[in-house]
Amino acid sequence: MSKPTVGIFGLTGCAGDQLVILNCEDRLLDIVALIDIRDFLMASSENDDACPLDIALVEGAVLSRRDADKLRAIRQRSKILVALGTCAVWGGVAAMDRGTDRARLLEEVYGERGLEYDSSPAQALHELVKVDLNITGCPVEKEHFIAAVAALLNGDTPLYPEYPVCTECRMRENNCLLIERGELCCGPITAGGCEARCPELRVPCAGCRGPAGDANVPSLMAMLEQKGFDRQQLAARLRTFAPDGVAQ
Ligand code: SF4
Ligand code: SF4
Repeated sequence: MSKPTVGIFGLTGCAGDQLVILNCEDRLLDIVALIDIRDFLMASSENDDACPLDIALVEGAVLSRRDADKLRAIRQRSKILVALGTCAVWGGVAAMDRGTDRARLLEEVYGERGLEYDSSPAQALHELVKVDLNITGCPVEKEHFIAAVAALLNGDTPLYPEYPVCTECRMRENNCLLIERGELCCGPITAGGCEARCPELRVPCAGCRGPAGDANVPSLMAMLEQKGFDRQQLAARLRTFAPDGVAQ
């Protein structure tokens, strides 16, 4: 039986998720033995950029007509399209400027000719095309990528945590930064799966994995207000990674 054909692509982003794949090190050879990677510009200069793909993994947000055209072409040639990382799933860091005057931004950064650049407000992949699977994270967790490959090869859909970072933080028996130290920690409404990496180091969660499936924003807001924070402060913190409206 022939191996499934796979393409790995980057739109506008930092390439961190593609690096996670390359950093699978000891597992990489096993993965390559099971799949036929046909198009992965970051790893190879010899690619087939037109062949049909069983699975396409796409990192980054859409920030230009070029990105949008590339994404639509990937969608057309792929049976399964996976959004890889917070930028692809939610818009991520590039979407921080949503709601600002884009023309003024372009002029400030690029000068008078800024408006001529092929540049548009950041969009997550699902805002343009059908996405079959989301793997969030900034960057994604290596184990989540490997689990996705294993599940898709078996015809299954991988399951990722629906619970928030707090669940993992409490399982690791950390003292709560929010309740005990009064720090603005986004753990209660951020998707788990990172093993509470930041609170484990006594750094408040900045929400880099995007909103948890069952995020209880009103409950967090009530607790934050008790601690002297307001809605604007939470919205400003969450705007770095999550879509507008999570804290509204
Ligand atoms: S430190 Fe943050 S992530 Fe950990 S339990 Fe408290 S609010 Fe949740
Ligand atoms: S604790 Fe929060 S900011 Fe840190 S890696 Fe996890 S989701 Fe991202």
